[in-house]
Amino acid sequence: MRCEEVRKLIDFHADGALDESSATEIERHLIRCASCAHEVRSLELTIKLLRSTAADAAASNSFVTRTAAKLRAELAPHLHQPPAPAAQGRQWVLPFSVEDRLTGTD
Ligand SMILES: [Zn+2]
Repeated sequence: MRCEEVRKLIDFHADGALDESSATEIERHLIRCASCAHEVRSLELTIKLLRSTAADAAASNSFVTRTAAKLRAELAPHLHQPPAPAAQGRQWVLPFSVEDRLTGTD
């Protein structure tokens, strides 16, 4: 494997996303090529650092509330809307006045 090929795949390699044979080829290249080895190790350290930092990060309650409201507003036209309550069930229309029946005036 040549340096250009390795450089195209190092993101995936550092993330552990390559199949075993590709990962092995890259590791073999890294033994012989100090430049690519340095690149991969730097990337692996960066990823490790970002993951540890992201794990400690927490959003404030006001940020979560504002972001959720914005998302709801922006996504609303694209989300399935349940039918309005009046349209869900049948509406019965009686052929007589209920009040007349209750008062016995017919
Ligand atoms: Zn190389």
